[in-house]
Amino acid sequence: MRIIIIGAGPAGLIFAHCLTRAGIDDFIILERRREVVEELGSGILLWPHTIRIFDQLGNGLLDAARKMEPSLLETVRLDAKGKLITRGSFWHRLKENHGHPAMVFQRYQLIQLLYEKLPGREKVLCNKRIKAINESSSEVEVVCSDGCSYKCDILVGADGVHSMVRQLLGTCERSPIPDPLNLPEGVRTTFRAVCGISPLIPGLPPRTQIDIMQKDTIWQLLQSGDWVGWCFYRRLPQTTTKTSRFNDEDADEFVSQFQHQIMAEGSSVTFGDLWRSRKRAQVVDIEEGVLKEWHKGRVVLLGDATHKMSPNLGLGGNAAVESAVTLSNLLFSHVQNNGQSDMASIEPIFSEYQKRRMKRTQDCTHISGNILSFAWLAVYAIRFLCIFIPVEAVDRLLADWVLNWVSRDGEILKFAQECQHQSGRIAWRYPNTDETQRVFLTKTR
Ligand SMILES: Cc1cc2nc3c(=O)[nH]c(=O)nc-3n(C[C@H](O)[C@H](O)[C@H](O)COP(=O)(O)OP(=O)(O)OC[C@H]3O[C@@H](n4cnc5c(N)ncnc54)[C@H](O)[C@@H]3O)c2cc1C
Repeated sequence: MRIIIIGAGPAGLIFAHCLTRAGIDDFIILERRREVVEELGSGILLWPHTIRIFDQLGNGLLDAARKMEPSLLETVRLDAKGKLITRGSFWHRLKENHGHPAMVFQRYQLIQLLYEKLPGREKVLCNKRIKAINESSSEVEVVCSDGCSYKCDILVGADGVHSMVRQLLGTCERSPIPDPLNLPEGVRTTFRAVCGISPLIPGLPPRTQIDIMQKDTIWQLLQSGDWVGWCFYRRLPQTTTKTSRFNDEDADEFVSQFQHQIMAEGSSVTFGDLWRSRKRAQVVDIEEGVLKEWHKGRVVLLGDATHKMSPNLGLGGNAAVESAVTLSNLLFSHVQNNGQSDMASIEPIFSEYQKRRMKRTQDCTHISGNILSFAWLAVYAIRFLCIFIPVEAVDRLLADWVLNWVSRDGEILKFAQECQHQSGRIAWRYPNTDETQRVFLTKTR
């Protein structure tokens, strides 16, 4: 079965790892950028269930991630004046609950890790911007803007929230291309944010998450050992189904009134300090929503191309990994059964993939969006809770009850062992099934 993946972001690269692990080697990735690894983007946090997948994927992925020592320890919530609301250990509690820690990377470090550990990385072709898709009943042809074309049985659009594959789905080469600034049905924007990376300024505690929550304005800082990934969100006057592109002047204007906001408890570090020392920053519209249709014919969507969530809980990339896991589990079973690549065999795989992933991606999208929208109300709720329970207990409550399902219910690969299996206080919904692995090992021997 020939597979083409469009996009070497987290979704495309993880899916390539999954296929390789499943023994499905006949694939390429087409990426529009000049290099796979470019120093772009902000911080990205991976939850314990995703770290579990790293273990299953092998190729030294988990050990290499651990060597970067990116786990978080403390969570601090501050009010507008920089006064402490709660201090807790959400991320530490998450590790106690699930065995694996949550890990935080700069986006480019994560891409570098996934790329360098991918066996056969010459299958990732750069400077390949997809321009057209021609689909027949027997195959799909992908045409790139450099004039090259490639054929496959399955086309996977892992090309992000403004997915060209999604826009071309079902169109032929001469069809007019829809406006990429119009969001697809079901996706909307309520917040605009500026997100960036700065060095860890003295006065900001390392390995700490800081949230500063005010009505319609929220700051989030993820501090690693020597850098800080930050996001500053502002609610738009009204929710819209359009998205916008921004330049550096827009970014300057966006932050101009907020330079004096204090960023840490008992410190004089301001947002202006982070802004002036930034290595990079970008204004982005925070799109949220899950598409109704994830596939058509031989084409299927993966990651942000089909489910986009606000980044405040750090779930979007994790959801992309989970979708890659589900799709590769289904493809693996198909290849084991008959592996036929006619349309009638492929479509049920895609339908099942969408069915299995729909509710969970909707849940992740809703909880991320609601927490962002009602963060200021949460401040009052937390202050009220603290009358009855110690401030440190708020994060335990969140990790044990409110968000326990996020990692607990993460699907795992059916065809790969966990070499360094970890578990904690909360049982995994998908235990490490030796039985599944025995079947796999017998069949592949
Ligand atoms: C500020 C911010 C912080 C975030 N923090 C977190 C976090 O902490 N944890 C988390 O899990 N998620 C986080 N997210 C979300 C996460 O970054 C995304 O969910 C994730 O990157 C989605 O991966 P993807 O591969 O689907 O899409 P993308 O990351 O967008 O990658 C798409 C790839 O496709 C390529 N491409 C696009 N168009 C074409 C084309 N026409 N032809 C060829 N190639 C193309 C692009 O160049 C890119 O390499 C954050 C998002 C933002 C904006």
